[in-house]
Amino acid sequence: MFTKDHPMKFFCIGRNYAEHAKELGNEVPDEPVIFMKPKSALLQTNMPFYYPEFTNELHYECELVIRISKNGKYIKERDAHNYYDGITLGIDFTARDIQNELKKKGLPWEKAKAWDNSAVVGKYKVIPPNFDAKNINFFMNKNGMLVQQGNSSQMIHSIDKIVSYISNYFSLNIGDMIFTGTPAGVGECVVGDQLEGFYEGESLFKLSVQ
Ligand code: MG
Repeated sequence: MFTKDHPMKFFCIGRNYAEHAKELGNEVPDEPVIFMKPKSALLQTNMPFYYPEFTNELHYECELVIRISKNGKYIKERDAHNYYDGITLGIDFTARDIQNELKKKGLPWEKAKAWDNSAVVGKYKVIPPNFDAKNINFFMNKNGMLVQQGNSSQMIHSIDKIVSYISNYFSLNIGDMIFTGTPAGVGECVVGDQLEGFYEGESLFKLSVQ
């Protein structure tokens, strides 16, 4: 059960799949692109998701999400796997019209990305021993039709690299969550749409836009 009382923050990685960077006309970055969402961005478990009033172009971005299980700073990539214990799928909801405006002006993205309930997180899977973070299959359906599909091997920066990189700038704390970037196929959703995310074939979230 996730509530906004849980002390945590979200880190999100942008442009971590080459095909997705291309579809939005962005360069593939040499270093991870990081942005954050506050804990008020969390859609609490079993709460409805409402289409925000301030956008006319709401986009879904289905992503693998990891949960930090140990406080850390300056984590080496080879040690990074010791700092997360859970993985799931989530949606980094984006007001694309607002983001495009902000990007044009070179302004920060928070109004497009960090609003209340913009972070949807599915049911966590406990990471087993000998977990291969570089071969995870996932996909998302919209209204029962496949719209996004990815494998973590397609990430430009691996999960362990991301954990290490973020920790050079920010302390990672127990409960923090990292959205690891979205594969190609992002798109619009409207009121009435049903979004369902599958991790290795198992449904981990199901949400309807209200
Ligand atoms: Mg994203």
